[in-house]
This record gives sequence, structure tokens and C-alpha cells, in this order.
Amino acid sequence: MRAAHITSHGELDQLTIGDVSDPKPASDEVVVEVAAAALNHLDIWVRKGRPGLTLTFPHVLGSDATGTVAETGAGVDSSLKGRRVVLNPGLWCGHCEWCLRGDHSECSTYSIVGLGRWGTFSQRVAVPAVCVSPAPEHLNAHEAAALPLAYLTAWRMLTTRGQLEAGETLLIHGIGGGVAIAGLQLAKLKGARVIVSSSKEQKLKRAGELGADDFIDYSKTQDVAAEVKRITNGRGVDLVLDTTGAGTWPINFASVRKGGRIVHCGVTAGKIAEVDIGALYWNHITVMGSTMGSQGEFQGLVAAVGAAKMKPVIDKIFPLAEARAAQERMETGEQFGKIVLEVSGK
Ligand SMILES: [Zn+2]
Repeated sequence: MRAAHITSHGELDQLTIGDVSDPKPASDEVVVEVAAAALNHLDIWVRKGRPGLTLTFPHVLGSDATGTVAETGAGVDSSLKGRRVVLNPGLWCGHCEWCLRGDHSECSTYSIVGLGRWGTFSQRVAVPAVCVSPAPEHLNAHEAAALPLAYLTAWRMLTTRGQLEAGETLLIHGIGGGVAIAGLQLAKLKGARVIVSSSKEQKLKRAGELGADDFIDYSKTQDVAAEVKRITNGRGVDLVLDTTGAGTWPINFASVRKGGRIVHCGVTAGKIAEVDIGALYWNHITVMGSTMGSQGEFQGLVAAVGAAKMKPVIDKIFPLAEARAAQERMETGEQFGKIVLEVSGK
């Protein structure tokens, strides 16, 4: 089968589009014929490699996909064949303390499709049957492929972790990335007021079209936290959704209200930061980490998206053969929404 894969870590020239062996489903797995797949920063980190990451090559990249179940393992209900599904890209053991509680993304051996096993940038992908859910009917293949990783990550950050309520105010940095936009769309579904920041006027405009309430252009504003305080009449926001990491850490502490919450899911702008413990305790601030989400959270997301007929935001669609150009676009940071690879298109 055709797949975007790597045979060693490195830059874009290490990404090959060529033939690899077809996957075979284990007893508890299904093979999905991929209609479309979507990009995440994780794919780039996996391509480049990082300390502690050991892969067996060749390795197929990609975590997000939608498609049709083509094969079922011996222990899986064969009536799943032919179903149009979306994948929860999480991989969990099913029997550790956290899995037994249903907190699958806290699993002691948690990994992700495209990281812990071959990914979705391919004509076929084998995944645990427990990870597939019916694709929302109002979404086409490109939109359904864009849903899993980014929207699941944002969903858990806003619900289980952030406990965002209607009428609360949320700050999202760097609107344009997949999780940031997902956070904006899902927070608006929940009835929150959302402040977004970007250095690009065009991205702020697009965020406004998605319902963002207030805008901070940090190419023009030196002090983002002061601007947040001005917008909130000196109070500060209830919650910050941060996908970027160390660069915005001090801004978050200066932007939340007393008793406010900060939830992190990424380190694209650095992973080591200093904490003002005085500000932390005096202001009753809660800082949380969050990764992906459980299967229960995934099903909650799919149901909420279906009920609201919400559509993921697509930046650009590339054919699988142009996976390099797609990753190149992601590395420029120019995108607004998800970058999608069309595979079969069906
Ligand atoms: Zn587990």
C-alpha cells in the first residue's frame, strides 16, 4: 500500500511516499481503508525524532483519519465491516489503574497512533477496534479526518480538566493551530466568552467569524496580560487554554482571575518555565496538564459535534502524494485550521 513514511529521523527530505506492507489486524483490531487523514505537530516531532523515542523503520506517520472498516480481527464483530468511522488515535492498555477508571489518556503505557504504531498517512491502517466510532453524518471525509486529535485534546482541556462553564471567560493564545481553533469552537458551544490572540490580523479576523468575542494582536500589543485585564475590566479570565508552552507562561499567571485555572497541552514555544509560587498560592491559581482524552471523552465529543452540526475548520487539502508539501505548510505556521491529506477520498 502507499504510505507517507520515514526510514530514519530527519528533515522533510526524509519523508517518503511509497509502498509499505499492508497491515493485518490482530484479534482485537480492525483495518480501516483511509479516506482522509489530518496533520498534527506530533507527526513532525515523530519525523524529526526526540530523545527516548525509538522507532522500528520504516515507520508510517499520522494520527488522525476517517475511513471505512475493511477487515476485522478474529475477536471483533465482523458486522463493523463497511462502517464509516473516525479513529480515536489514543492507544491504552485497558487494564491498568487509570484504564479501569476510564481515564484512558492517563494509561501507564499511553501512546498514540503514528507514534506507538504505524499511523494513518496510508491507504490502510490497523487500529484497536475499541478506538473506532461512527463518523458524524454531517461531516465529509476531510472534516471527519480533522476531528480526532485536536478536538479531543481541546474537549478534555475544556471539560474534564478546565471545567469551563457558560458565561465564563476563556483566553486562547495563538489562534490558528488545530487545538486552539478547536478550543474556540467548543468553548462557544458551551456558551463561554472567548478572547483570542495572534500576531496575524487575518487569523484574528477568521477567529471572529468563528465566534471569538475579543482579540489581542500581539504584534501591536507589548503587554498581552494588561490587554486581557482591560478587556475583562480588571478581573482576569476564568480559564486559559495554552497549546504553546513556556513563552506564554508568565502571561497566563498575570491574566487569570483570583482562583483562575490554566490548562496546558503543548510546548511548541518551549517546555521549561519558572513559577512565581507566591503568585500561584496568593491568587489560588490552578495549573493543569492535559493530553488527548479517554474513549468516553471521544464519544462525548463526537456526540456534541453531531448535535451542534459543528464542522472542524480546514486550512488546506493535499493529496497523500504531496505529504511533504503539507508538512512544510504546517512548519511555516501559516495555517488556520487543520491541514488534511486526501487518501481515497471516499
Ligand atoms: Zn492502561
